[in-house]
Amino acid sequence: MTTFTDLQLIEPLLKALSEEKYEHPTPIQVRAIPQLLDGRDVLGCAQTGTGKTAAFALPILQLMAEHSRKSGRRPIRALVLSPTRELAAQIGESFAAYGRHMHLRHLVVFGGVKQHSQVRSLARGVDILVATPGRMLDLQGQGHIDLGSVEFFVLDEADRMLDMGFVHDIRKVLKMLPRTRQNLLFSATMPQTIVELASAFLDRPVRVEVDPQASTVEAIAQRVMFTEKSNKKHLLANLIKALDMDRALVFTRTKHGANRLVKQLERVEITAAAIHGNKSQNARTRALNGFRQGTIRILVATDLASRGIDVEGISHVFNYDLPHPAENYVHRIGRTGRAGAQGVAISLCEPGDGGYLRAIEKLIGMDIPVVSKHHYHCEAAIPPPLQHRQSQAKPRAHSRSPRKRRAGHNRRGRPQSGR
Ligand code: AMP
Repeated sequence: MTTFTDLQLIEPLLKALSEEKYEHPTPIQVRAIPQLLDGRDVLGCAQTGTGKTAAFALPILQLMAEHSRKSGRRPIRALVLSPTRELAAQIGESFAAYGRHMHLRHLVVFGGVKQHSQVRSLARGVDILVATPGRMLDLQGQGHIDLGSVEFFVLDEADRMLDMGFVHDIRKVLKMLPRTRQNLLFSATMPQTIVELASAFLDRPVRVEVDPQASTVEAIAQRVMFTEKSNKKHLLANLIKALDMDRALVFTRTKHGANRLVKQLERVEITAAAIHGNKSQNARTRALNGFRQGTIRILVATDLASRGIDVEGISHVFNYDLPHPAENYVHRIGRTGRAGAQGVAISLCEPGDGGYLRAIEKLIGMDIPVVSKHHYHCEAAIPPPLQHRQSQAKPRAHSRSPRKRRAGHNRRGRPQSGR
């Protein structure tokens, strides 16, 4: 098995990694780190939870330490753009952790908070800037940020950036960067728009991929339960009370839905907190800290706010509302079952949402096992099978041991309960 020493990392990084208790590099780290140390541009196809942050942070730190700057005020040498504040904060924490034995300064800037302290830190000089695009451009426009010395440019979660409408901001930033630099682009999915964006600024990139679909299928026990819309809250409350869970992340489609669900859960004495874009940064940080520390076991989130939530020990993910587009399913359930731990993902499907379920099954290449033995089961919510499978003899909606379309994913023998 590859070790971090095999990857030719320098001593201060090895020391920090051992303090972090990382024993072996993850597959994306094994593949990306040597290429990046070699100075190549990298196009990484990986989702959060694969160890992708270390895959780019470690080589950047190393290369920066090996080619130290001239004396004087520190120019920004690495720029990492991230779609959300939470993810930016986590990337910043990673740089701090891995670089703790180095003399490099990093700073995280994002909107929603006063800019005063960010401006002060920028004035003192930073080596690594982690930022959300809006605030970054804002500060740049005011003359607080100079990107003229950037040697490393990382675009993280690029697909999400485009979904959030950041494409123009990204293009603006690209124009401000020096011509000679090393580029990294990470994205969980690789739609055509990302491929086009990548070809606009990556120079003969090495493509590094870890298969999110396989990890989804392998490590996480997935279930779907069909129920009336009005019964979803009761079903969820029952599951929360009945299942043996450490921490659960519950996904709703809307911010309003998240708030409403928290109130409904509190009515049946389940403590929960909501995290979404309408909450203040302080409220989001408070909810996330409570969740990390275990005082809040249930966090209700929308897709956007959930990006970058990296909390260990999430035993269950509930899709209170089915995700749309289907790719979000992979992001959502990837929050559990990390680092080899078994996670459970339960989706509630109401009448009318069956199309979303089938789209997910098509994407992940398997049928999600159905749990129908429960109080709130609703037959009418079960969608017809996918068109191209109608010729198959056996309808599978009620199947207790659903057939997998791919070999090697047979979960028969697993109990058909929520856990
Ligand atoms: P990421 O995909 O970058 O969000 O990382 C997911 C989680 O995995 C983070 O909590 C990291 O601290 C952790 N992690 C990253 N690399 C390793 C490793 N080689 N060994 C153990 N944990 C890791």
